[in-house]
Amino acid sequence: MFGGVDSDPFLYLAIALLVAFVVQGVLSYLSQRKSGSEQERPMQILVVVTCTNCGHSETTNFTEGMFVGRVVGSCPKCGGKLIVSKIFTQPIQQSLKTGPQR
Ligand SMILES: [Zn+2]
Repeated sequence: MFGGVDSDPFLYLAIALLVAFVVQGVLSYLSQRKSGSEQERPMQILVVVTCTNCGHSETTNFTEGMFVGRVVGSCPKCGGKLIVSKIFTQPIQQSLKTGPQR
């Protein structure tokens, strides 16, 4: 632990205030989301990757670190470079429901 300052009342007060502030912020954020229930559908991020050689393109799930122009693999058809050409979001369809990846 922290040597020396083991019982500083101001430190605990500051921490308590900070926690209360964060909790209040989270609660107000959640209540705001509930009130605006029109956009309740969860969104998923999809990425279109395109082969720079033959033009083959496919849609995959977004993974961390992807950005437009990045080489993400090789083309299954010709072996050329596959680059991210488009990143977009769409509502998650119930039939394609997948667990959150974190
Ligand atoms: Zn190709």
